[in-house]
Amino acid sequence: MLEIVKLGHVYGTGPTAHQAIADINLEVAQGELVSLVGPSGCGKSTLLRCVAGLIQPTEGEVRLDGTPISGVPDNLAVVFQDYSRSLYPWLSVRDNVALPLSRKGAGRAEAREASERALGEVGLAGAGEKYPWQLSGGMQQRVSIARALAYTPSLLLLDEPFGALDAQTREDLEDLVLRLRTEHTMTILLITHDIDESVYVGDRVVVLGRNPGHIVADLPVVLEGPRE
Ligand code: ADP
Ligand code: ADP
Repeated sequence: MLEIVKLGHVYGTGPTAHQAIADINLEVAQGELVSLVGPSGCGKSTLLRCVAGLIQPTEGEVRLDGTPISGVPDNLAVVFQDYSRSLYPWLSVRDNVALPLSRKGAGRAEAREASERALGEVGLAGAGEKYPWQLSGGMQQRVSIARALAYTPSLLLLDEPFGALDAQTREDLEDLVLRLRTEHTMTILLITHDIDESVYVGDRVVVLGRNPGHIVADLPVVLEGPRE
């Protein structure tokens, strides 16, 4: 479970200080997917960086499974929009997916096995020998998702993950996220500009307002059945 308590962040100090987000309170249950939407500049990225432990918030606290986040926790994975910069071009797809696990101390065979399993889950069984630059954008983003899955995170952060992809690829990947959700019990926070996407994949849609970024709505999603 993710708990965000009275979170605020001010960039800079003195006359250039800028309050990006203020008084954000949010609880996301284990296995729940919350979509985070709001206008550009409302603090979505700032919130995500605080949750990911990439920046230390100036106010409040983020707790993951009861433990305050400080530094980048090892039960958390992030998938960013810019897939072209998130994979190492000199490593095979399999090694890209296995790398975080190896860094965490997994043995070679274990990391490789987890990598193959995760690639299978995202529909890329057999692509392990390829290099990222041999794959389409959608496939590269599948690799990024596989890398996150192989890591078996308790929290998955998706930062505009499909924003750079064409409509059909985006729909395929939204369906992939929906399917993975039923097979894993990860908590997922999805940042998106796409209202349709936020409703389609989210259990809840949280809307941020600007100046400074704060929660203006927190809405449950009522499922209407599969997409046409
Ligand atoms: P969003 O992701 O919703 O577009 P951001 O979190 O990127 O919003 O930005 C929120 C506010 O904080 C904006 O006013 C932005 O200009 C400001 N901001 C973001 N990053 C920095 C930074 N590194 N230094 C100073 N101000 C920043
Ligand atoms: P997003 O695509 O999430 O809206 P932005 O375009 O707002 O991101 O910001 C892109 C980058 O510029 C981010 O790394 C952010 O931290 C940084 N940034 C945004 N606003 C400012 C600012 N006022 N001062 C310094 N850095 C900023």
